[in-house]
Amino acid sequence: MLMLRTLLTTSIIVEILVIRAAAGETRSTETYRRIKAAIDATPSVDTHDHLWPFDRLPAYTQTKAGRQVNLSGLWRNSYLSGYNPVIPWKPDDDFDSWWGRAKGNFENVRSASFYRYQQAAFQDLYSVDFDQITDEQAHELNRRIVENYRDQRWVYHVVTERANIELMFNDPHWACLDFAQSYPWEVLVFNVTTLFRGFHPGEYTNEGGPWFGDPYAFAKKHGLPADTFDDYLKIVERLFIEAKDKGVASLKCTLAYLRSLRFENVSHERAAAAFGKRRQQLSPEQVRDFEDFLMWRLCELSAKYELPFQIHTGQARIQTSNPMNLVDLIDANPKTKFILFHGGFPWVGETAVIMQKHGRHVWIDSVWLPELSYSTAKRAFHEWLDAFPSNHILWGADCNHAEGIYGATELHRRCISEVLAEKVTSGDLIEEHAVHIGKQIMRDNALELFPQLKDRLWKHKGVKMEPGPK
Ligand SMILES: [Zn+2]
Repeated sequence: MLMLRTLLTTSIIVEILVIRAAAGETRSTETYRRIKAAIDATPSVDTHDHLWPFDRLPAYTQTKAGRQVNLSGLWRNSYLSGYNPVIPWKPDDDFDSWWGRAKGNFENVRSASFYRYQQAAFQDLYSVDFDQITDEQAHELNRRIVENYRDQRWVYHVVTERANIELMFNDPHWACLDFAQSYPWEVLVFNVTTLFRGFHPGEYTNEGGPWFGDPYAFAKKHGLPADTFDDYLKIVERLFIEAKDKGVASLKCTLAYLRSLRFENVSHERAAAAFGKRRQQLSPEQVRDFEDFLMWRLCELSAKYELPFQIHTGQARIQTSNPMNLVDLIDANPKTKFILFHGGFPWVGETAVIMQKHGRHVWIDSVWLPELSYSTAKRAFHEWLDAFPSNHILWGADCNHAEGIYGATELHRRCISEVLAEKVTSGDLIEEHAVHIGKQIMRDNALELFPQLKDRLWKHKGVKMEPGPK
């Protein structure tokens, strides 16, 4: 009887522990803390950001005291601004006048992941609890941000030391075809999105804009003819050669914001019919033919030049951005290495089945996912680790300032650690394997997919990354 009671009590305690873990208290367990500490200590390979050259950071704000990166600039360039914009800074504002109008803007987003990742950065980098910030603390936080951004060492420090990122892929969408590196820890990405407009040179009129890459300017610079569709395809291939030459590691495509991810295998002839005509002279079907053909050509070139293809899937133009739309393209291009960005959010179960069927040459990248929805990211990591091998998951921060990169990295580490700790607690994983998987996602998987990056690792040398002389 006594034994039975002891047994019962023990099982009740175990049950309570499991329920507590399931109810979100995982982060207070020792298992979580140990896994998180091991993952924090692992220098990461971040597969996606948009970190502009330091003097062109989009967070710069024109103030009466001159051009500064301030609190307003950081929030304006955070994911919060996509859903719940913080009130703009006016040219005649000082901090207190702006804050007076802005401080109410956070009321409805306290629980949203696109707010919480920045909160994590303010907490860890400035010891400020943004949830309970006072006017005085906000004033002081702003002063410290302005001070930090007087020197680009701040960005170096936060990215490489505080966020513990060893290498960071950078998608320079402001100058897609320049292949110019701005930071020593940066891995270049070739953003091919603007090539899809190549049916006419008149498509490239936004010189200097945020999404810029003119293949005709590249052709002119290199003395390449650009009169026929075949000339154009040769220019595209020359860009691949140039990209490889400059050390680019992967391709990136964000067409999911503009059109469907279903790309038909159209004939050369049909695609050529759109070439040399202005958009107004073309039907939407003709434009689509051109784009579809080019996508298949880019997949071939991706395989030929060994540049894995990062493709934005999910949250974009949601009518047509379900990653399932890519399956025919993936199926027909087994030599191309596809990387499905953002986990396909919200279609994370769809990406899991794509991995089960085509996982040999497909990777999932959880970039941006925890900031879109932390709980969806948790579900995704749980399901993915149940469904396919752990060496095909990558991660990235997808931000354009130091605090964003830090916050997104911290949220990722937290999310992955939480999922792994839950799997350990439920008896589905031993802790040693959990730590191994965490390190795979944050670092090792990227080095396995991009083995050339092993030559660029620097942390083991015990050096510090410093900006070079100007
Ligand atoms: Zn991005």
